[in-house]
Amino acid sequence: MNIDRILSSLDKVKPKGRDSWVACCPAHNDKSPSLSIKELPDGKVILNCFGGCTAEEVVNSIGLTMSDLFSEPLEKQDKFYTKRQLEELDLQAWFLAICATHLHRREHVASDDMQKAAKCYKSLKSEINGLKELGYNKLARRIKASTTMMDAWRMIRI
Ligand SMILES: [Zn+2]
Repeated sequence: MNIDRILSSLDKVKPKGRDSWVACCPAHNDKSPSLSIKELPDGKVILNCFGGCTAEEVVNSIGLTMSDLFSEPLEKQDKFYTKRQLEELDLQAWFLAICATHLHRREHVASDDMQKAAKCYKSLKSEINGLKELGYNKLARRIKASTTMMDAWRMIRI
């Protein structure tokens, strides 16, 4: 979202420090500017009405939606994990660690299991960052540990 698009829709806009402005709130009958606008380095725009309007009321009243305040598409920020997905990831990490341990001890691992391990490795690697972003640090660490075990021994070629 271009900050100019928001500022141009507001009245009595005044700069207030770096990447910050005040303006009259379009969502209530505002005589003196009580809406603060701030643009974050990542392009996200923060709106705060001291009259008590929500950011949603403010954007709606100038013909925009909440997603216009975000520089990134909302789907990305809305990502979450269900309990089932978390349990599945946990199980995969456990399975991968077991396989890696067997391989390390030079014990036989059935080819079915090796294929399954390769799949787990791939899907777990792609989830680590997403889990960290959402604060599942403990699970992310366990996953990292199990994939690193595989990396270290170069047992899997993907
Ligand atoms: Zn307001």
